[in-house]
Amino acid sequence: MALFALRDRYLDVDVERTRVAYGETAESGADRCSCKYCQNFVLARNDVFSPQARETLALLGIDWRVEGEVIIVGRPDEYGFYRYLGWFHLAGAYLPEETAELTQSFTDISSQLDQVTLYPAAGHSSPGFPRFKDEIEIHFMTKLPWLLGGR
Ligand SMILES: [Zn+2]
Repeated sequence: MALFALRDRYLDVDVERTRVAYGETAESGADRCSCKYCQNFVLARNDVFSPQARETLALLGIDWRVEGEVIIVGRPDEYGFYRYLGWFHLAGAYLPEETAELTQSFTDISSQLDQVTLYPAAGHSSPGFPRFKDEIEIHFMTKLPWLLGGR
């Protein structure tokens, strides 16, 4: 298990179990979905996750190409950019704050990763992604141009 800090939450992540699950999952939520919003995300994905973002996610055992799902939030902005919310599943648990305060050695993953912002979350499941017995999520938020042509 490895300890991470993300904004105001602390995560205890089973990195190895998470990594194995990603290795066994060929397709992400957006890859499996045929809707135009997911297809647009697939086209933009390489630009969403910079080398730094990919590295940070890899510390947790996450393959940046295999997000659980993405959805769009609200309407496009004045420049035609869409706000996307997506999530990654992890094996692990959120630590109660009082437990976390006793531990010193967290890797802080809260910093802005270029195009993408990470948030602690829980409670979704994604079809096609293996369930963990102890499961948490991290959410990511990003803004993307429309690359698909024709809306
Ligand atoms: Zn879709």
